[in-house]
Parts: sequence; C-alpha cells; structure tokens
Amino acid sequence: MGSEAESDKRIPVFQSAVQQLREGNFAVDIPAEPLDAVGYLGLELTRLAETLEQNFEESRKLQHIAEQLTSGLFLDDVLEKVFQTFRRVIPYNRLAAAFLSDDKRHLTHYWGRSDGEMVNIPPGYTASMQGSSLQVVIETGKPRIINDLERYLEAHPASESSRLVLAEGVRSSLTCPLIAHGKPIGLLFFSSFTPNTYENVHQGVFLRLAVQLSLLVEKSRLYQQLYEVNQELLEAKRILQDQAMHDELTGLYNRRAIMGLLETRLSRARREGLPLCLVMIDIDFFKRINDGHGHLVGDRALKAVADRLSRGVRDYNRVGRYGGEEFLIVLDGEDAEVAEQIAERLRAAVAEEALEECGQRVKLTISLGLALAPAVAELDPLQLLAVADQALYDAKQNGRNQVKVRRMA
Ligand code: GH3
Ligand code: MG
Ligand code: MG
Repeated sequence: MGSEAESDKRIPVFQSAVQQLREGNFAVDIPAEPLDAVGYLGLELTRLAETLEQNFEESRKLQHIAEQLTSGLFLDDVLEKVFQTFRRVIPYNRLAAAFLSDDKRHLTHYWGRSDGEMVNIPPGYTASMQGSSLQVVIETGKPRIINDLERYLEAHPASESSRLVLAEGVRSSLTCPLIAHGKPIGLLFFSSFTPNTYENVHQGVFLRLAVQLSLLVEKSRLYQQLYEVNQELLEAKRILQDQAMHDELTGLYNRRAIMGLLETRLSRARREGLPLCLVMIDIDFFKRINDGHGHLVGDRALKAVADRLSRGVRDYNRVGRYGGEEFLIVLDGEDAEVAEQIAERLRAAVAEEALEECGQRVKLTISLGLALAPAVAELDPLQLLAVADQALYDAKQNGRNQVKVRRMA
C-alpha cells in the first residue's frame, strides 16, 4: 500500500518532467526509486530525456553547419567551410574532395586540407574508377568506413590511393558520396590519423546532410566554373582590345588608337589650359631601304626606328604608327621649347647610329614636323594633324633629317 502511495506522488513529478521536455528543457530530475513499475517508467523517461537532448543537440549542430555552408559562394569556400564545421559532428584530421569526370570513368582529386602535411595526393591527381572499390560507394550512395587502413592495404595491395594516404599518416577513413539531383558527382574523404575512428553514427550524420551538401557543392562548382570562364572571356576581351589598339609590327599604338589619344589629350589640354604639341615623323628615303635590302630588312628597320622613338619619350607621351613608315607622337604638358628639344633628340637618336639588321648595316634618318597648339584653342585633331603634316613637308623640302616647327594661329 505504501509503495502505491509513493507512486502516486511520483506521477505528478513525471507529468511536470514531460511538460518540461516538451518545452525543450532536458535537464529534468526524474525520481525512479523504488524500482517498481512506476520506477521503471521513471528510468525510461530519464533515458528518453537523454536521447531527446542528444538529438536536439545534433540537430542544432547540423543546422549550424548547414547555415555556415550556405555562406560560401565558390566551391573552395564551401569545402573550406566543410573542413571547419563538420568537426563538430564527424572526427577527422584530413578532408579531401574529388570529382567524377562527365563520363563517370575517372575521379580527379580537387581539394584537400589536413592537420598534417598533405603531399601525396595533389589536386589534379586522377584515378580510374574501373575496378575501384570507390565504385561501390558511388553506386550504393552509402558512406564507407575503413577503420584499419594498414590491414585494408594488405588485403587490397593494388589500391594506390590507400598507399598514398597511409604514407601521410591516415589510419582510418570515411568515404562519402556526393549525389546531386540523383547523379553522383564525386566523393568526400574524411580521414583520421587514428585507427578505428569511424562508427555508423558518422555515416548517419553525413547522410542527414548529404543531399543539401551535394547540391551546394554542385551549385558552387558550377558557379566557380562560370566565374572562371567569365574571367577567361574578360582576359580574351582585354587581349583583343589590346590587339585592336596596337600595331603588330612595331608594337606601337596603331593609327586609330593614336588618333583617339590625340583627341582625349587635346580636350584635356584645352580644359586645363595647357599647350599641346603633335610630332609627325616620316623615315627618309625608305623606299631605298626596301629596294636595296629587301622587305624583311625594311620591316626590321621600321621596328628598330619605332623602338628608338618610344625609348626617346617619357612613357606618358605616346607614340603611334600613323601609316607605313610614318609615326605620330603626342606631347602634352610640354611647352614649345621642350617639345622641340625632344623632337631634335629623337632625330639624333635615329641618325647617330646605323642599324644592324640581318647582318646588314642600314643607315637611316627621319624628318619631323612639329605642330604647336596654343593653350586654350578650340581645336580639331585633324587641323592639328594637317599642320604637323605641313611642318613635316617643310623638313623634307629643306633637305630631310631635321625638325621643322609650325605654330597654329
Ligand atoms: P621620303 O624621304 O620622301 O619619305 O622617301 P620615302 O622613300 O620614304 O618615300 P615614301 O614615304 O613615300 O615611301 C614610304 C615607303 O615605305 C613605301 C613603302 O614601300 C615603305 N613601307 C611602308 N610601310 C612599310 C612596311 O610596313 N614595311 C616595309 N618594309 N616597307 C614599308
Ligand atoms: Mg611616308
Ligand atoms: Mg618616307
């Protein structure tokens, strides 16, 4: 009778404990003594509270992991996050990711992190899936546990990758398939330096996150590929734009680019009230070079003159190839006297030393026409160009190998 009275007293305590469990408070004190039928119910309730607490804790961790993972945009970020966050639910010293080729016949190592030194399986390491035990993991979609890698290698001496990771210190492994939209895409390798690290519970934990993780990996992988292709396109576009602006033979700005530069520099000079000079250059008697030495030597001589011109000006003063053996130089910010000195220096730089092209000595001179634009004038680049051309004509008429100057009215 006494024990019945005791059990009556325990029932309300159990009821309030169940209430607390429902509210998420798992630290309940449930009396079991004496161990009669009600007492055993108390023990069961205590176990239930523990299980609930564990599940709740695990769900919380998994949710945290899931939240962390989605913050990564690129595949590498996502994998880095996996390495950081999965430790809460799966033990490992090393994590690696590998992806299947489109035809599913090869597996290529993509990424890895290790607490130790990770040297044996570098990114790009590719292995055939044919006859590989990894095939089973892919086909069944179930994580595989190897808890004694040394013994595993004894039994499977042909397993190259096992031999390699064993040499890195790995003793047990949990190999997990990544399956997105029902299609296998690759594998995640959790590895530990300690034997017997993995249990069924770790397989289960992975499976609870597998779908979400796989989709995320696939998405970030596509995003990364898209990004990389876009970078390549941008680079190709940059190269094309660069090519479109430069002359192939001399590497100087081409006619369109140097005329564009002249236009922008002209409007800047006008805005800032600065003078601007345009130098037009033509190689003297160049036909004779072609006729006497051949076109190939002619081309090389042209390139050599271009080099001397660009070396002779400060780099922000731009040189361009205007046409065949004619060049344009925009000198902004220089006053007339300095511009004339620069032009004279360029003339001397070409005339002073003969060129050595294809074992032939080529002596060249250039004529230069310098057009000086007044500081604040409203100017059309073509007007300035015409004046430079006239100055060049003056230089040719006056005997070549010289600088002639014309000021704009
Ligand atoms: P001038 O002193 O009056 O300028 O005499 P010139 O012989 O240089 O006469 P002009 O400027 O009229 O002729 C330019 C020559 O330059 C004609 C052409 O054969 C040559 N030329 C133009 N472009 C190239 C090129 O890219 N390569 C080679 N090898 N020759 C070129
Ligand atoms: Mg010419
Ligand atoms: Mg010429």
